[in-house]
Amino acid sequence: MTRQPDAVFVGTGHNALACACHLAKLGWTVELFEQAATPGGAVKTGEYTVPGFRHDWAAMNLSLFAGSKFHTSNAGELAQHGLKFAPTAHPFASAFPDGRWLGVSANAALTTARLRGFSEADAKAWSELTAAFGGQAEQILGLLGSPMKFRAFASFSWKAHRKLGTSGALDLARFLTMSPRAWLDETFTSPHVKALLAAWGMHLDFAPDVAGGAVFPYLEGMAGQAFGMVLGAGGADTMINAMVSMIEAHGGKVHCNADVAEILHEGGSATGIRLADGREVRASRAVIANVSPGALVRLTGGTGDVGYDQKLNTFQHAPGTMMIHVAMEALPNWTAPELKRFAYVHLAPSMDQMARTYAQAKAGLLPDEPVIVCGQPTVVDPSRAPDGKHVLWLQVRMVPGQIKGDAGGSISTTDWTEAGPAMADRVLGILDRYAPGTSASILGRHVVTPDMLEADNPNLVGGDQVCGSHHLHQHFLNRPARGYADGSTPLRNLFHTGAAVWPGGGTGAGSGMMLAEKLAGK
Ligand SMILES: Cc1cc2nc3c(=O)[nH]c(=O)nc-3n(C[C@H](O)[C@H](O)[C@H](O)COP(=O)(O)OP(=O)(O)OC[C@H]3O[C@@H](n4cnc5c(N)ncnc54)[C@H](O)[C@@H]3O)c2cc1C
Repeated sequence: MTRQPDAVFVGTGHNALACACHLAKLGWTVELFEQAATPGGAVKTGEYTVPGFRHDWAAMNLSLFAGSKFHTSNAGELAQHGLKFAPTAHPFASAFPDGRWLGVSANAALTTARLRGFSEADAKAWSELTAAFGGQAEQILGLLGSPMKFRAFASFSWKAHRKLGTSGALDLARFLTMSPRAWLDETFTSPHVKALLAAWGMHLDFAPDVAGGAVFPYLEGMAGQAFGMVLGAGGADTMINAMVSMIEAHGGKVHCNADVAEILHEGGSATGIRLADGREVRASRAVIANVSPGALVRLTGGTGDVGYDQKLNTFQHAPGTMMIHVAMEALPNWTAPELKRFAYVHLAPSMDQMARTYAQAKAGLLPDEPVIVCGQPTVVDPSRAPDGKHVLWLQVRMVPGQIKGDAGGSISTTDWTEAGPAMADRVLGILDRYAPGTSASILGRHVVTPDMLEADNPNLVGGDQVCGSHHLHQHFLNRPARGYADGSTPLRNLFHTGAAVWPGGGTGAGSGMMLAEKLAGK
């Protein structure tokens, strides 16, 4: 008779994989079941355009993973299993419609000098932020790395109070509730500087006027300058391949093309899973679901706690995203050639335009002028394309999951299958305005619409790239529901992990690592 695994996992997002690595290392037997043909969820790499050109399907920037507790605790072993990063000292920049540009590099003097070109006062403010970053980062990253149980939260608040004093602790609390615009207007004067930083809020659903969003422009700006950016060597899938290999080396199993149709439970305790093909797999210690909140309720058929189920069923998703993967003869012909050295070039000209784009996407409209994150991974890692050629990773922020209309007035369909190519033409047209003639260098393109993202990975509901809005009411102690931000659920032995659980989206493996430590009794 085959032994039951200690833990079975629904899904192989990087949080499930990190959790499984940690538990397998401690001697747990683990089996993971993934509905897709390859593991990794939103982190995968493939040749989607022309043979020889490798594209990151979704996540490209692995800085959160590289700096995560999971990675730093397992760096040696992951490297043995093939994990390799491609770092850059030139993480991000913005191109502006007036032909100017501004970028952050891992060199404080250089970055400050660039800001000085826009405003002496802003260069001074930036220098002050740089000087204070070490102390501030300790508090903010400490908070983001703390388990969100009342006791842990209270302990963090107490320590922050002792370290910062009443006034400092209240300043920190005030900052954490500020919108990007409120903080940027208070700190800087130049519209270019503000737009450069505000673009980072748009990677989540923190448009300039959304409370709680200031922390993202701040952290990305400061961390980009302190550490640069990290990509995966050869593709983001390096981190997934290494984790799968590490799990297997510790005796675990990862099954793909294995859709989990049901989470089994008896007497208030989870016992295993049933696959869509009818097979059942029991677990002796834990069932760990790396799924969206709505899916967790569906898979259990109801946990028995009506209040919890209702919170998960009404969990709110953020607007969608769309990807355009492009194989290129050459890099974009930027008006400012210095932009050719940056990993990301944001086309996000002003806070007003970002606010308008968000409002349009929320209202179901295709934005007339979306924010474009132009990723240039081959600048950092030329191995992803044949010699001298390039790939572009174009992320379109934001678009509606369900189209109701077009703010640009030229796309009449509400079906993403037809709207996708038309929207891609709009995006490439915008890129051509900043980098004339770029379209002529395109060798192949692959458009990924919100419904394609969701079809590939059901956690990306409506193309929401971070499995749930991070607005304050759904963050911290409330992610995904108050009392359950540590991955517990009302069913014994059933646990929840992934971007929907505190500390949320991105490749930082936070919820998976915290859950593993909790299960391991640490
Ligand atoms: C387009 C895009 C770009 C992004 N860019 C970045 C970036 O550059 N940097 C960054 O840090 N973050 C980025 N993110 C966010 C980040 O990638 C995600 O937040 C993170 O990878 C989510 O990890 P997860 O553990 O929640 O699992 P997911 O990646 O959501 O994976 C969950 C897995 O579970 C599987 N699954 C779900 N239900 C079932 C079931 N019933 N049976 C079997 N399997 C199931 C899914 O198929 C999937 O493989 C991006 C996301 C997207 C979509």
